[in-house]
Amino acid sequence: MAVLQKLTSQQAIELEKTYGSNTYHPLPVVLSKGEGVYVWDVDGKRYYDFLSAYSAVNQGHCHPKIINAMVEQAQTLTLTSRAFYNDKLGLYEKYTCEYFGFDKLLPMNSGAEAVEAAMKVCRKWAYEVKGIDENQAKIIVCKNNFHGRTTTIVSFSSDSTANKNFGPYADAFIRIEYDNLDALEAALKNNNNVAGFLVEPIQGEAGVYVPSESYLAKAKALCEAHNVLFIADEIQTGVARTGKLLAVHHENVQPDILILGKALSGGAYPISAVLANNNIMDVMTPGTHGSTFGGNPLAAVIAIAALEVVKEENLAENARILGELFRSEMNKYIETSNIITKVRGKGLLNAVVVNDTEDSETAWNMCLALRDNGLIAKPTHGNIIRFAPPLVMNKEQLLDCVSIITKTFKQFEN
Ligand SMILES: *Cc1c(COP(=O)(O)O)cnc(C)c1O
Repeated sequence: MAVLQKLTSQQAIELEKTYGSNTYHPLPVVLSKGEGVYVWDVDGKRYYDFLSAYSAVNQGHCHPKIINAMVEQAQTLTLTSRAFYNDKLGLYEKYTCEYFGFDKLLPMNSGAEAVEAAMKVCRKWAYEVKGIDENQAKIIVCKNNFHGRTTTIVSFSSDSTANKNFGPYADAFIRIEYDNLDALEAALKNNNNVAGFLVEPIQGEAGVYVPSESYLAKAKALCEAHNVLFIADEIQTGVARTGKLLAVHHENVQPDILILGKALSGGAYPISAVLANNNIMDVMTPGTHGSTFGGNPLAAVIAIAALEVVKEENLAENARILGELFRSEMNKYIETSNIITKVRGKGLLNAVVVNDTEDSETAWNMCLALRDNGLIAKPTHGNIIRFAPPLVMNKEQLLDCVSIITKTFKQFEN
């Protein structure tokens, strides 16, 4: 029998359980097709996708422009390594630098790799430009952050599931409260060896925590005053998700180092990037960093197409308008609800808080019921459900989704 046979849901789930390292706890739904805001399971049942692969699929599933660019390039040239030049990388670097307003781009693949690369750039800058003594550089990070899964990154995670028994941990990180300017100022004042402040403009994985107004602008100003690089991890919040091209744009902040991933490819391929101006990025010289796949011509054309779609289809504006509609509709429901206490978010990155304890099964059970009613989403932290549909959704579809969500939640009212 052919290796790629048609599977039932049960068979697909069993295979993953038996042969896959069990690092995830997926919602039991087996998807086999996607288009725009929809995905279909192996039995042909259609769902609204309210996770968008953690905001990688902002442009919608299998966007024809992105897929066409991908297929055409895949039939021409996929990988040369950086041992040689290719005829697409420079075009991608120029387009993306101009798009986000930076001098230079460092191409990587996964988000975690881009975070690692950003920290390397930051440290090298600290030693060679700022003048910190060798091996003394510190990076400030926030509690409840999510920046990926490498050994260094999990070292400064506050999630014990993510880092327990993965030590020894990298130190050289200072952890402070998120959305707390006093804590940031104290950390900057008490330490002369701070190289950078690594922050998510909205903490996505932690449960969609939007910081207080002007937090990012003031944090950036504090960093500037202490000659410390402001590093924005926009892997989840970037590329139009929150109603602006970047979430830092809500406060007119231009980070010193910008980290992108996820929707930089529209979900077609792993593509991430670090962007900075010459005064920072020029510390990187031949041999100091690299990646076999980073900057390959296939990734280059996919990322260009994915970024073009965001502009051509006004996805930032659409996310802003639909996000406001979503929160206002949810707030109407919440007024009469005793099972949902809160909706929060920006643009189409939102979450609702379920009125139950963090270790309760309620949010999970609600997601199972949503699935049965044709919409898939996942709890983030116990009692929080994130709602992040593709940004190509229209108003009618959004209202249809609101009606599915409220109808489902009503089954849980007591
Ligand atoms: C998803 C994510 C990452 C990690 O990206 P991977 O591609 O999974 O390595 C890092 N930072 C943030 C904010 C993310 O949402």
